Amino acid sequence: MSAHDFDGLVAVVTGGASGIGLATALELAGRGASVAVLDVRPDVPAPLEGFTADVSDRGSVAAAITAVGDRFGRIDIVINNAGIGASGTVADNGDDEWARVLDINVTGIARVSTAALPWLRESPAAAIVNTSSIAAQSGLPLRALYSASKGAVLALTRAMATDHVREGIRVNCVCPGTAATPWVTRLLSAADDPEAELAALNARQAIGRLVTPEEVAKAICYLASPLSGSTTGTALDVDGGATHLRVRPIPA
Ligand code: NAD
Repeated sequence: MSAHDFDGLVAVVTGGASGIGLATALELAGRGASVAVLDVRPDVPAPLEGFTADVSDRGSVAAAITAVGDRFGRIDIVINNAGIGASGTVADNGDDEWARVLDINVTGIARVSTAALPWLRESPAAAIVNTSSIAAQSGLPLRALYSASKGAVLALTRAMATDHVREGIRVNCVCPGTAATPWVTRLLSAADDPEAELAALNARQAIGRLVTPEEVAKAICYLASPLSGSTTGTALDVDGGATHLRVRPIPA
């Protein structure tokens, strides 16, 4: 990919104040985009610009997208990355938690994309990239609700790609494996034995280590780039081989 393939383009990154979203926002900016981060806590370093938005609130999203349009005069790229986790079997979360997680992880994408569509239709290089997960394709233990939400993101990606292909808007998603972000740091610190938990997560990766946020960011930017004009409706695994490879355990 060209070092400046996003020159002159404006990108919106939800959940861009941390982890995968922050790495993606910085990569986009480094490759020439003006980047608006939409986040509930939008503290971001320059040249990123933060806009307060809660993807579970349609009014908040609409106001933020309007503010981005006013500020930059265009929106070309939308990275729907904001998301939250959930633990447990299908029996472990009540209706309120099911509604909350699906609202942020799935309906949030619909809200942000809906608000941005009028801008994207005007763009010569329109692209949406959604953050799904290996949990959309593989059964992970104690991730029933989270997996349901990420499976929905994968299905929604293909549906959106179909609906908008003739408008010149490409829609793809990434499926990261366990990535070393503040989210996973929080999960590890809540474990009974954080070191053993990290070793188990590393072992699940065929490459023997966690995915880095920067690696996911590069994959997202590949899908978002105007140089990828024939790529739409795809899901790109960035998972250290966790989904498809069956390797022998690394000897202790
Ligand atoms: P993170 O917790 O480091 O960052 C998430 C960001 O989203 C934070 O800045 C947070 O403030 C923001 N956010 C949360 N709820 C929001 C809301 N309602 N509105 C706006 N912003 C909100 O997480 P991360 O690990 O970087 O994960 C980012 C995405 O990647 C998520 O969709 C997650 O499901 C997905 N993912 C993560 C991993 C992983 O192992 N870290 C693996 C696969 C997929």
